[in-house]
Amino acid sequence: MQLSVYRGRFAPSPTGSLHLGSLVTAVASYLEARIHNGEWLVRIEDVDSTRVIPDSSRQILHALESLGMDWDGEVVYQSQRHTAYQTTLTKLNKNGLIYPCACSRREIADSAMRGVEGPVYSGSCRNGLPSNHADRPHALRVKTENSQIEFVDNLQGKVHQCVESEIGDFVLRRADGIYTYQLAVVVDDAWQGITHVVRGADLLHSTPRQIYLQKLLGYKTPAYLHLPVVVNKQGEKLSKQTQAAPIDLTKPLPQLVATLRFLGQNPPDELVEGDINSFWQWALAHWQAEKIPKGSHFINEP
Ligand code: GLU
Repeated sequence: MQLSVYRGRFAPSPTGSLHLGSLVTAVASYLEARIHNGEWLVRIEDVDSTRVIPDSSRQILHALESLGMDWDGEVVYQSQRHTAYQTTLTKLNKNGLIYPCACSRREIADSAMRGVEGPVYSGSCRNGLPSNHADRPHALRVKTENSQIEFVDNLQGKVHQCVESEIGDFVLRRADGIYTYQLAVVVDDAWQGITHVVRGADLLHSTPRQIYLQKLLGYKTPAYLHLPVVVNKQGEKLSKQTQAAPIDLTKPLPQLVATLRFLGQNPPDELVEGDINSFWQWALAHWQAEKIPKGSHFINEP
C-alpha cells in the first residue's frame, strides 16, 4: 500500500455555524487534499472554551456531511487534548524556553513597540516575576529569538518575520489556564501528521510563530497555502462577529458554486441545477489551485 504523502485538514473553531467564509476554507482544503489523493481530516478547535457556542460543532459537522465533504478518520476535539498541550509545556519548561508572566493587559498595551498585531511584549518578566506581581495569576510565554523565520507560502509567496521584534514572546497558556491557539495548532498539526495546511490569510502572520514553535519542539514544518479572506461590503472579514449568514443547507449548490468562483475557478452556471455529486465531480476534474487570487475580496452571494 502506498503511504499517503498528503494529509490536509480543516480546523474550524466552533464559534458559530459554517458560513461562506469558512466554507471557502473547507472547500479549498478538501479539494487540494483530494486532487493529491490525500487525506482530509477535521479538527474542532474548541480549545478556547470561553468562545465556544453550544451545538456549533455538531452543526458544522452536519453541514460538511450534507455538502458531501467526507473526512478521513475520527474528528479530533482540542478540548480533549489538554494532556498533550500540558506535556508540551512541561518539555519546553525543562529546556528553559517558557516563563511565567503576570503583566496586566494595561501594562502590555503600554509597550512602546508596535508589531504586526499591536503591542510587542517587552519581555519584562523574562528574568523572573517582579515581587509585587508574584501572587497574580500568570500566563506562560515562550522566549522568542531575534532571527528571521522565512517560508514560501504556496499562494502568497515568500513570507518572513522576526518573531521577537514583530510579535514578541507570545503566550502559550493564558492566565485563566486556557491553552492558546498557537500552542494547540502546532501540537495537533504535528500529532496528526499534517503535511499541508490550507487556511485563511488572516492567519498568515501567525505562521512564523508556529514554525518557530515547530523548530523548538523538533517537529516538521508542513507546507502552507493561505487563501484570500472573504470580506463583506464594509471590508470586514466574514465571521460570526460580522453577522455572516449560515450556509443554507436546503439549497447548497448556489453557495458551493459561489465558493468556487471566489476561489478563481470557472464553474458553469448549469452546476447550480445539478446535484452535489455532479458538483464535486466537476470541481475535482477542474480544480486549479494556481487560479486562486491572492487578495481578500468580496464574494458574490447567490
Ligand atoms: N480554528 C481557526 C479558525 O477557525 C483555524 C486555524 C487553522 O486553520 O490553523 O479560524
